[in-house]
Amino acid sequence: MAPATHTALDGDQLYHKLSVLGQYDYDRATCDRYASMIAEIRRLKEQLRAVVLAHNYQRPEIFEVADFIGDSLELARKAREVRDAEIIVFCGVHFMAETAKVFNPERTVLLPYLKAGCSLADSVTAEALADRKAELRRIYPDLKVVSYVNCTADVKALSDACCTSANATKIVDAIDGDHILFVPDQNLANYVQGQTKKQIISWDGNCYVHHQITVAEVEKVKRGLPGVKVLAHPECRADVLEVADAVLSTSAMVRYAEQSDATEFLIVTECGLSDRLLLEIPGKHFYKACKLCRYMKMITLESTLDSLRNLRYPIELDDDVREGARQALERMLELSA
Ligand code: SF4
Repeated sequence: MAPATHTALDGDQLYHKLSVLGQYDYDRATCDRYASMIAEIRRLKEQLRAVVLAHNYQRPEIFEVADFIGDSLELARKAREVRDAEIIVFCGVHFMAETAKVFNPERTVLLPYLKAGCSLADSVTAEALADRKAELRRIYPDLKVVSYVNCTADVKALSDACCTSANATKIVDAIDGDHILFVPDQNLANYVQGQTKKQIISWDGNCYVHHQITVAEVEKVKRGLPGVKVLAHPECRADVLEVADAVLSTSAMVRYAEQSDATEFLIVTECGLSDRLLLEIPGKHFYKACKLCRYMKMITLESTLDSLRNLRYPIELDDDVREGARQALERMLELSA
């Protein structure tokens, strides 16, 4: 996980840093405005004893106020380790802020924009999962439910263990039971099925961002850039993963790109990760076969500042849901240790 940011930049420095990123309009006036919001967010963080956790898919300017940047697993771990803050501002989507609240019931956890949801998390409800689990348990008494962390807290509470894209196969292999109901991502389930001897029964959900990336798009870039290393996220379709050089979680992509001798990479996941790589690893080239997640991009500097000024929007969970989700998340952390 990337640690806290660096010194605050003025508008001019921010413009030079961010204007290399293609898909946003970073003009000087915008960067001046961002620089003053960043300074105010940093001041409020100190005054309120707040930390900002940001997912890899966030807007690049959000990285400037983040205390930690990472993928789902790293942010879940970090949320569990928060000690000396009273407020956690979660720059990510709703289910991630819920996870922070699961580990920090006594702290205020804020999501800057309440509608920052997730198509994947929305594809499974606790009621539908309870029905399917009961139905399958009659056929497979040893059935275990493994839920990808991209789901709501009440779905996690019905799961035997959670997993992330970084540890999904490890969790499936480690949990007792040969039949695994894997929710909610069908592409990740298919990928895990290729890595394990256990029987995976997948849910019919997907991340709309990764599911829309086609093998034709990837092949086109490969033809134009012979020798490029293709790094793909396991939420992509199976035919996309087949043409990748490595199938990796977002943070594993960062480590791979840092350590590889290769200098050209095609990053097949949400575009925010490519932005992070471009900013953090100068001298290497990162090409994008990626899409923007509209939910992740709902979080802005404006909403983050508003969140700190007005303490909104606090995440609340029922005690039984929180405890059930905590157990499934703790089981993941134990099994992946
Ligand atoms: S990238 Fe996909 S899985 Fe992640 S928040 Fe967006 S829709 Fe959900």
